[in-house]
Amino acid sequence: MTIEERAGEILDRMARAAAKAGKTPGDILLVAVTKTRTVQEMLSAATFAGAIGENRVQEAEEKKKIWPSENAPDLPWRLIGHLQCNKVRKAMGLFDTVDSLDSSALAERLERIAGEMGHTLPVLIEVNTAQEMSKTGIDPKDFDSLLERVLNLPHLRLEGLMTIGPLTEDESSVRRAFAGLRDLALGARERSGLPLPVLSMGMSGDFEWAIQEGSTMVRIGSALFGPRNYK
Ligand SMILES: *Cc1c(COP(=O)(O)O)cnc(C)c1O
Repeated sequence: MTIEERAGEILDRMARAAAKAGKTPGDILLVAVTKTRTVQEMLSAATFAGAIGENRVQEAEEKKKIWPSENAPDLPWRLIGHLQCNKVRKAMGLFDTVDSLDSSALAERLERIAGEMGHTLPVLIEVNTAQEMSKTGIDPKDFDSLLERVLNLPHLRLEGLMTIGPLTEDESSVRRAFAGLRDLALGARERSGLPLPVLSMGMSGDFEWAIQEGSTMVRIGSALFGPRNYK
């Protein structure tokens, strides 16, 4: 199957899952996750996607050098992988959002550099809802204090939350993790009075369950491009 055919199929499955959840297809954004993919492959997917999701600063930098800004759809680039504090300045020049905000130290650093640049950076807080099965994201018990911190940083604009579901095919554990993120977002909306509309959850293996649990943004790599080959 071509990338175009796979994209069509994913959009169909997203639309069906959205309908089941009482939503319209426009309520859920497709982020094309492009780690290890060539710019050529990315361009094939770009017309179907609402954003590009990259994991690594270095990789995004190399791709942006050859990205044809004239002929490509003007999509936002979202950083979805862990960001080290020493790469913040470079990341801010490459990405439109940071979806993997997972510590106060990183929040402070992003705030300082966004302030210097006179820029307000949209962010998502990444939560580790899968607990022992995943290592990325902030522990749910530390979420409230990070939320408090981020809400007080004037150059960060919190738009919602992100999570990676547990790596299992057990539907109920996966859905429980996604429901957990949704509940954290509900609490955060109440505390902050902000809309915090984004719930970035769901990948190739679990995006339909995520949409059932309220996802507004799915991050799809292998179902769109085929299996990844890490060099
Ligand atoms: C790689 C990755 C994805 C996409 O994973 P697939 O299973 O290939 O769809 C989504 N989110 C994050 C944070 C990733 O690192």
